Order: sequence, then C-alpha cells, then structure tokens
Amino acid sequence: MREKNMLRILEKSRYTVVLSGIGMMQESGYPLLRDGEESYDIEEKYGYSFEEIFNSGFYSARKELFFKFYKEVILKAAENPPGAGFYDLKKLQDFGLVQSIITRRIAGLEDRAGCRNVLNLKGTVFDNVCPSCGRHYSVEYVKNARGVPLCEKCLTALRPQVCLFGEMIDNSLMTKAAEEIAKADVLLVLGTNLSTPLCSQMLQYYTGTNLILVEEMEHYTDQQADIVIRSRCDDFLEQIAAEYERENMDQIGEKK
Ligand SMILES: [Zn+2]
Repeated sequence: MREKNMLRILEKSRYTVVLSGIGMMQESGYPLLRDGEESYDIEEKYGYSFEEIFNSGFYSARKELFFKFYKEVILKAAENPPGAGFYDLKKLQDFGLVQSIITRRIAGLEDRAGCRNVLNLKGTVFDNVCPSCGRHYSVEYVKNARGVPLCEKCLTALRPQVCLFGEMIDNSLMTKAAEEIAKADVLLVLGTNLSTPLCSQMLQYYTGTNLILVEEMEHYTDQQADIVIRSRCDDFLEQIAAEYERENMDQIGEKK
C-alpha cells in the first residue's frame, strides 16, 4: 500500500524537510495571480501586470498605486485561511515525521496552521516595517490605513517585509535554507515541479536518500525525484497522517 510505504520512509528518516510549493496554496483556494485568469483582471484594472506592480521599482516610484493593489489583491487573497493540507502537515510535524518547512509563498499559511520551524524565504504579509525607524506593524494596520500606510512615529511609508519582484532573497535566509536541505535524509516536495526556484536553487544542497515529489502535473524534471506521487497534496498528507494514526492506535491496542 502506497501510504504505508511512504510512512515507512518518513519514519526511517532522521530529518525530513518539506518544500511547500504553490500547489499547496492553490488547494487552499488561492488565485494564481501571475499566470491565472486573475492576471488579466489585474492588468485591466491597474494598467500593469502583477510582476510590474508587485515590484521594488514600482514600490519606490508609485506607492499609492502599489498599496491600492497590495490591499485589494494581495491582502484580499491572504484572507483565505490555510487549507486542510497545511493542518495535516502540522500533524506530521507533531508525529515527528517532518522537521522543517521551506516556502517562497508570502501568505504565511504554514505558520497560520501552527507549523513550526518554517522558513519563509520571501517573508510574509504579516510583518511590515518602517524603513526609517525599524518599527514593526501588523497586517491589520496596513489594511486599515487610508492610502499609503505610514509609520506612526516618523510618518515614513511602511514596507511589507516580503521579497518583491526585482529583489533578491535575504542571504542569511538562503544560507539557513541550504543548511536545512543539507541535513535532510528525505526531501518532500509538495505542489510544484523541480524546475521552480524553490527547488532548483535548493536541490544542489541535497544529499539525502529519498526525494519525494507530490504533484499532479507532469514535468520533464520529474525524473530527478526518487518517488513521484500524482496526487493533490492535501489528499496525500491526509492519507499519511491517517495511516500513522491508524497504526499507532493499533500499537496502543496491542500494549493493553
Ligand atoms: Zn518609523
């Protein structure tokens, strides 16, 4: 049985790292802002593409429009709660089957589902900072501000602590991520293919034994994985968590 085999692999692994991809987010009901239907709506409404607006240059030059877009599109999408897959991922962490999680998505879904040891490579919308005095602000503060959100103390325009297009990921975060990957026996890639930046920049550090890819869509890089599972991520995670619970209930029964 597939779940059993997967569970054995996770149980044997001393250190399992999850790369949480865009598929996990889509399963939570998130729109594909860059490539999906929404990209046309964005261009029509704002006169620029997602990549043009959600860009460091645009943030510097056109703060009014940047924050209009940011609040209406990015923060609106982030109101979607984490889907079931994230809660099952947390269960796997609770069972000791997953040690850390790395993602480039900025909605903080792993954190919100209660996952631990999460590396948000591109930051999250939940942290906003004043570039001048360094004071931090909540997402509600940004949401509720009229127009451009300003620092209460020094009236400087705030900056969401996320990596915009045109910006590099913080070097110390990349180093941390590389260290995590290097520790991993098992790398569990969820909802993305191996050519995306989340994977391609990280795989060079991986020296473990089982690279497991869970992704519905085929891709020519799939052959780099040791095991490919064609499934929704939430279904997969639910089955593994359920199998673990079933087996451990049996053990408790036997001990009695
Ligand atoms: Zn300030």
